[in-house]
Amino acid sequence: MRVYKFGGASVRNAAGIRNLVSIVGKASTDLVVVVSAMGKTTNALERVADFGYRRELEMAFRQLDDIRQYHYSVIDELSLRYHALLRDGIEAILQEIATLLRRQELPTDYDEYYDQIVSCGELISTQIVSCVLNEADITNVYLDMSKLLRTDATHRDAHVDMVLSENNLRKYIRNHPATCYVAQGYIGGTLSLSGGDMLRTTLGREGSDYSAAIVANLLDAESVTIWKDVPGVLNADPRLFDDTVLIPKLSYYDAVELAYSGAQVIHPKTIRPLENKKIPLYVRPFADATAEGSVICDTQERISNVPVYIWRKRQVLITIRPKDFSFVLEDSLNQIFSVIYKHHLKVSLIQSSAVTVSVCVDESRHVDEMIDDLKKKYSVTFNMGLSLLTIRGTTPEIVKKQTAGKTILLSQTTRRTARYVIREEQ
Ligand code: ADP
Ligand code: ASP
Ligand code: MG
Repeated sequence: MRVYKFGGASVRNAAGIRNLVSIVGKASTDLVVVVSAMGKTTNALERVADFGYRRELEMAFRQLDDIRQYHYSVIDELSLRYHALLRDGIEAILQEIATLLRRQELPTDYDEYYDQIVSCGELISTQIVSCVLNEADITNVYLDMSKLLRTDATHRDAHVDMVLSENNLRKYIRNHPATCYVAQGYIGGTLSLSGGDMLRTTLGREGSDYSAAIVANLLDAESVTIWKDVPGVLNADPRLFDDTVLIPKLSYYDAVELAYSGAQVIHPKTIRPLENKKIPLYVRPFADATAEGSVICDTQERISNVPVYIWRKRQVLITIRPKDFSFVLEDSLNQIFSVIYKHHLKVSLIQSSAVTVSVCVDESRHVDEMIDDLKKKYSVTFNMGLSLLTIRGTTPEIVKKQTAGKTILLSQTTRRTARYVIREEQ
């Protein structure tokens, strides 16, 4: 068994879906095809959830209608025999969202409400992909991951119960033998606390790569291939740098470091489930299925011949100081971090002095709440709108070139890596 994962950019239009069919059709082993929501559907569904929660229903329904039209235009272009049936299937999912929006009582938990709506992007895309594969004579079984991938109830950042999920998935596959399965990325399910139906959960934005890795781990897959709009793992984001170089082979260690620093090409959580079972991860170009791309595997080799640049944008630098002048590392670190995690913030860098600790976190709507919480006990200063630049294999010339004309608010260097929190001048 192998796992193929197709991201939103790959399945954003009819041509992309036809290309997926062609790639899947050429596979020589049994496959689980993990699919993201099409194009920017997840962002659009986030807007639906926000409008719905704020009771701006007209705006929510307008946005939902755009999502409907977008998916209908793609399936219209695909000229399917079972077009009407597929359209009914998509409509049923959209109606489920509409029912949630119309509910009279206000949802108590935003994150739970969000997950019920935002997870629908993957439910729709997988219905489409499954139908198109069937019509191309690639008979497949549809896996509803909201029933098979069991998670806890941490909505928007759910943790997978590996034991229950393995049981569910293996049992389902045993009872529904096939050479091709189609599964949603990004979503899982949890038991509702009220004892009713299962509730859908999501694994964190951009989490479909992670889903593919989880499925591979649970099924002891031979490999995972994630098909991307780039030639493979490059030494920098090609949207930000012109002369990028392909890195053909990386260790799990280098890959997780790059991903955690902000290299968007792989979700940082993807590596662990693969490393645990030494399953190789191929990153290959969707546009050219003959190209080999990159492999991330169990190797001792380190990236050494090219410098690697990673920009992590939209950062907030927060400096926290105990008001009583106590030593921050000895007396307060635990408490500070429990506040940070309580607000679901991801820390990208830490630096400390005797009485201060500075952390960089991704901008999110939770940052203000967290700062207010910290201010109850600590003095807090912060800067928004920053970027974190990580350079692996750096030299003074490289640093000078990359940081020219920019204000460095904090720097941190180790033997291999230099990191800078930067304010880019307007
Ligand atoms: P998906 O279609 O799976 O959602 P993403 O858009 O999340 O894919 O990730 C692919 C993008 O990652 C590329 O378009 C590229 O701009 C960006 N990227 C950032 N850093 C790198 C890197 N080091 N190598 C390759 N791509 C990178
Ligand atoms: N559709 C989800 C998102 O856009 C998950 C993913 O694409 O990986 O965040
Ligand atoms: Mg993505």
